[in-house]
Amino acid sequence: MQLLDGKKISEQLLEEIKADVEKLRSGNKKIPHLAVILVGNNPASETYVGSKIKTCERIGFKSTLIHLPDTIEEAVLLQKIEELNKDSDIDGFIVQSPLPKHISDEKVINAISPAKDVDGFHPENLGRMALNMPAFLPATPYGVITLLDRYDIPTAGKHCVVIGRSHIVGLPVSLLMMRNSKPGNCTVTVCHSKTVDLKSYTLQADILIVATGQTESVTADMVKEGAVVVDVGISRVPDDTKKSGFRLAGDVKFDEVAPKCSYITPVPGGVGPMTIASLLKNTLEGVKRKTA
Ligand code: NAD
Repeated sequence: MQLLDGKKISEQLLEEIKADVEKLRSGNKKIPHLAVILVGNNPASETYVGSKIKTCERIGFKSTLIHLPDTIEEAVLLQKIEELNKDSDIDGFIVQSPLPKHISDEKVINAISPAKDVDGFHPENLGRMALNMPAFLPATPYGVITLLDRYDIPTAGKHCVVIGRSHIVGLPVSLLMMRNSKPGNCTVTVCHSKTVDLKSYTLQADILIVATGQTESVTADMVKEGAVVVDVGISRVPDDTKKSGFRLAGDVKFDEVAPKCSYITPVPGGVGPMTIASLLKNTLEGVKRKTA
């Protein structure tokens, strides 16, 4: 069994991006500028946003954090988005989820200009991605395929089973694994909460991608010997032995599944760090596309 070390690969990616930013700087070209809108004070969101901003600083990006109260009216948030759409210094921006209940995710996503939608959630980017056209790929699925690519894992003709069909992970990752590209060219089965006899599908998977948020629900008896397992899930499990009072766990029961796998992502240190690196890669690619 070999670990798909997202921490290591994301470090490589960030170093590559940093070198590109240096080149832009020395050529007096525009430095990528990412803005992040954070609404409210969800602790996990604050941590994610904090690490996005910190990583921007590390690789030489400009960054702007716009922190809004959770009482903000939807119309005011949409107005802020429109300002960022028009701001020529901002190359890309994201609105951190989850949003407060009174704000429509759909309206927010649709309000973001597809040209600045570095999270790749806008229907135009999702459609372009499905059609294998240049697009911002959603950061987590982008991270998953980059990880498979950097480990040179063969995907063509393999059976990839994805558990989860969310718009940010399961659905786009299944399209990416199906596309006529590398990585890609898999035969893809998508399972979800209404799937009957999940195990009968997961046992057929050469590549199993799990994104359900159901902590440690994929067990050894559900995985074929030699499978590649990518665990996207991250949840906090109460743990009195930790100073924080919790540990991070994935959707896969790592200890019992890992010995059966050819490759597996750890949690933490697998898909998580790849997500931030992919978001920044999107932002850089956006700048390059604009100036090409
Ligand atoms: P979601 O709740 O939007 O979607 C979960 C999906 O799993 C749904 O499509 C649902 O049908 C399916 N599902 C739920 N229970 C199931 C079951 N018992 N059997 C089969 N399918 C089931 O979640 P999401 O936003 O896609 O996130 C999934 C997990 O990935 C979460 O743990 C989340 O924290 C994590 N996540 C991690 C990253 C990262 O950067 N590593 C990014 C995004 C999400």
